[in-house]
Amino acid sequence: MAEAIENLEKYAENVRVLAGGTDLIPSMRQKLFEPQYVLDLRSIAEIRGIKPQPDGGVEVGALTTIRAVERSDFLHTHYPVLAEAATTVASPVLRNMGTIGGNICLDTRCLWYNQSLTWRKGCGFCIKKDGDLCHVAPGGTKCWAAFSGDTPPALLCLKAEIEIVSPNGIRRIPLAEFYTGLGDSYRKLHSNELVTRVFLPAGSSGYRGVYRKLRVRGSIDYPLAGVAVAIKRSNGHVADARIGITAVNPRPLLVKGATELLTGKSVDETLAEAAGDLAAKMSKPLTTSALTPEYRREMIRVFTKRAVLAAAEASQN
Ligand SMILES: Cc1cc2nc3c(=O)[nH]c(=O)nc-3n(C[C@H](O)[C@H](O)[C@H](O)COP(=O)(O)OP(=O)(O)OC[C@H]3O[C@@H](n4cnc5c(N)ncnc54)[C@H](O)[C@@H]3O)c2cc1C
Ligand code: SF4
Repeated sequence: MAEAIENLEKYAENVRVLAGGTDLIPSMRQKLFEPQYVLDLRSIAEIRGIKPQPDGGVEVGALTTIRAVERSDFLHTHYPVLAEAATTVASPVLRNMGTIGGNICLDTRCLWYNQSLTWRKGCGFCIKKDGDLCHVAPGGTKCWAAFSGDTPPALLCLKAEIEIVSPNGIRRIPLAEFYTGLGDSYRKLHSNELVTRVFLPAGSSGYRGVYRKLRVRGSIDYPLAGVAVAIKRSNGHVADARIGITAVNPRPLLVKGATELLTGKSVDETLAEAAGDLAAKMSKPLTTSALTPEYRREMIRVFTKRAVLAAAEASQN
């Protein structure tokens, strides 16, 4: 680890970190990133693995594969929404290589950006790389590319924190504070910093959870809209609930007001529909993908309703 941090500091803006490489390598082939050096983290064993903590929480090393998260009995039992979100990432082969740290740090995506150099050159590039206009919001100065990772909305529902290491030391922040909401500089991570661990608190253990996503190819694809729901019940009523959304804004978000809406109630169709309306109101998809913004927002409404009903049912058991 010390050597990796040293190299990160030494090569600063000229280096790009590689974990599983399942997003970085295709992006480098498309010349979206052209680093002089690639820092391969894969031999750092200390940040790989799922380690239950004495207080009932769990530590997940950044290099833990998505497959390991998906297959973990501990996570299935205590943090099912995360295990379920992991099962939907890409395809089995990519989940064997891809890591949770890479999923958290994943670049935002846009139809006008995730293309070959020739394609992007043909339309004059864009603000996110090499150009000065946005094809999605012409006239604007901001990039709206969508955050498209599947596990972060689940992690937000679980109040996850992440550990970040740099030459200056170690800091730990709520995942909710990691993303900026800007499509082109989407995370608060300096070039000499690494995400090393994810922590799930004991207080989020035992929430039943469900993840639903919209994608073009069911067998292998990024989300074009994704919803995670985590519910805890007591005496037949919702004791606490959280809803996280992804792929419809430049950052993954917890739906504001969802906890207040659901807590203390018994979940039925009407309440689940109201939760869907709330989530749809927070999603602001634009023309960054192959499916229309209207359809993606509508699917957030539909998936949220379904996920709330399914999570409420699961929490009865
Ligand atoms: C065909 C295809 C389909 C895909 N479908 C999905 C999908 O459905 N859902 C989904 O969420 N993802 C999808 N992905 C993207 C990717 O496979 C996953 O997000 C995976 O979890 C990324 O992890 P990785 O370790 O491979 O990341 P990498 O490619 O190694 O890294 C991704 C980014 O994060 C940075 N990074 C990685 N680890 C760290 C760290 N510890 N600290 C700081 N920075 C770091 C890298 O520098 C890079 O910018 C897909 C990819 C492909 C090619
Ligand atoms: S939202 Fe605009 S600036 Fe951002 S990647 Fe898409 S076209 Fe480029």
